[in-house]
Amino acid sequence: MSLFRVITSRVERKLALLLSLVSVLALSILGYLAVQTVTLARQQNVAELEWQLTNQSVDRLRKFIDDKIENFRIVVADPNVNAIGYEQQTFILEGHLAGDSSLVELSFIQPTDGFETARVVRGYDKPIHRVLGLDEPAVAAALKGENYFGPVFFSDNEPRIVLASPVTNQQGVVIGLLRGEANLTTVSPLVAQANLGESGYLYVVDQSGRVIASSSVLSNRLSRGTDLKRQPFVSQVLSTGLAPALNTATIYNSNIAREKVFAVGRTIPKFGWAVVVEWPEAEAMAVVSEVVGRLVAGTFILLLALVIVSLWLARKITKPLRQLTTAAAQIGQGKFDVVLPTASQDEVGELARSFGTMTQGLKELERLKDEFVFIAAHELRTPVTAIRGYAEMLGDASKDLPEQAKEFVTRLQQSGGRLAILVNDLLEVARSQAGRLKVQTSPQDIVAIISATLAELKSLADEKKHIIVFSPPPQLPQVMADKDKLQEVLVNLVGNAIKYTPPQGKVEVGLRIEGDSVVTWVKDNGIGITAEDQAKLFQRFFRVESDETRNIQGTGLGLFIVRQIIEHMNGRIWVESTKGQGSTFLFALLAGDFLEPE
Ligand code: ADP
Repeated sequence: MSLFRVITSRVERKLALLLSLVSVLALSILGYLAVQTVTLARQQNVAELEWQLTNQSVDRLRKFIDDKIENFRIVVADPNVNAIGYEQQTFILEGHLAGDSSLVELSFIQPTDGFETARVVRGYDKPIHRVLGLDEPAVAAALKGENYFGPVFFSDNEPRIVLASPVTNQQGVVIGLLRGEANLTTVSPLVAQANLGESGYLYVVDQSGRVIASSSVLSNRLSRGTDLKRQPFVSQVLSTGLAPALNTATIYNSNIAREKVFAVGRTIPKFGWAVVVEWPEAEAMAVVSEVVGRLVAGTFILLLALVIVSLWLARKITKPLRQLTTAAAQIGQGKFDVVLPTASQDEVGELARSFGTMTQGLKELERLKDEFVFIAAHELRTPVTAIRGYAEMLGDASKDLPEQAKEFVTRLQQSGGRLAILVNDLLEVARSQAGRLKVQTSPQDIVAIISATLAELKSLADEKKHIIVFSPPPQLPQVMADKDKLQEVLVNLVGNAIKYTPPQGKVEVGLRIEGDSVVTWVKDNGIGITAEDQAKLFQRFFRVESDETRNIQGTGLGLFIVRQIIEHMNGRIWVESTKGQGSTFLFALLAGDFLEPE
């Protein structure tokens, strides 16, 4: 059964729609808020992870360089030495070179004139002497007793820096300067593992935006020395020192990832390098998509459940209303034994109670009316019979009366006849309504009853020049019927056929066996009845209103009584008709035994 066929009443449909709409709206708002919350929470989480990785790497790099500078400084053990000789200088330089694999070359410089007195170069045997002068930045800084750490420069595609420190004796007197060049490729292992998920990465750039090192995710994509100064985010980090604010991340289209990334970055104080962490949004937010997917699926199931509950609720709420509607329709048809909804304690319950009270009132009214009609009709019968009797007598004795008086007598007889029919019909109706219709069935010879009735109605048919045809089949069973009542039925049906067929028509009566019943049919070629009127034909006082029926006398009670009688005889009556072509009234009665052939 489709959902929509289940929804029968309009109120129910509206209610179901309303309930469903409210649930959809509530769920949508909830879903939207949930997705929003999860997205925000994840974004914050991503930013936190990125900052954690950034700060960790910054700390590690700073410690690495600080250690390198610290280890570079030399204090000569002898407190009184003021100068050291070439041999000793070379010895010191070679010891240092061996101690730090990142050092490419080392020189010993005279603090007096900036003259390089000894130099060792990794991989070279022959030292080359230079004059650096006291103004050279590394020399000048070391002369002041500082540890010098120069800007990054690239040589053979390797990032390098210049380091310089004073060589002092134990009294703190500067007896020489140590100057060296270190290879920064040793920074790489420090950040190689700094990845986030599968695609998040970190890179370190120098003060001018060139790549010094990057995490393993980028090993094939970003070579050392690449100039990233033009990357807006890198230049922002270099110029501001920190971007964006802590605990947040910038979303931008990265040239490195070639997609949208969450990025954070900060510089390493003193050195001016920057560490940047980027994580492609697609991966970082994948967990949100997963949550959203589950949320959508969950919401959908919930929604379906809610719609079903709404339908059920709407059905439950409107059930008493539907019962009341059915009851009202039945009462409209005069049936007072209706099923009323069990009264609940709400407004609908109140309505049901009032409806029940009203039904009782109507029932009582109907009973009183039937009682009244019965008594009135019953009481009218005697005077009407008397009037008809006297009218007959007057008719018999009218030959001596003047012409006009004779006509009055005829009219009196006609009206008396009609009055008698009406009173009889009323009485019959009142009887059936009050359950006083007495029908006693016994096997009857229906052919004989029909023949007798047709004989009775012959004069009526002759008046309208109708042909009446009755051709019963040779072998017929008896029917279970009340003889007088069956005659009343036939008089009514054949009478109607004669009445509602224009002169010179044809009225046929026939019989046939159908299962365990005998069907009698009365067919005319008269005015016919529309399908709409056919439905109301057997109701009390119903008469077709049309030009053809306007001048035909009747009470609208005949067919009602006929149906009551047929149903009391456990039979069934129906009509088949086409407007303008004629009507056939059919009734089925239970068959009794077959008649003995005479
Ligand atoms: P009435 O006293 O008006 O004949 P009935 O109950 O016998 O009352 O019939 C109800 C109405 O059904 C009639 O008024 C008439 O309009 C219609 N009707 C009954 N029988 C026929 C028929 N054989 N052909 C056409 N209309 C008919």
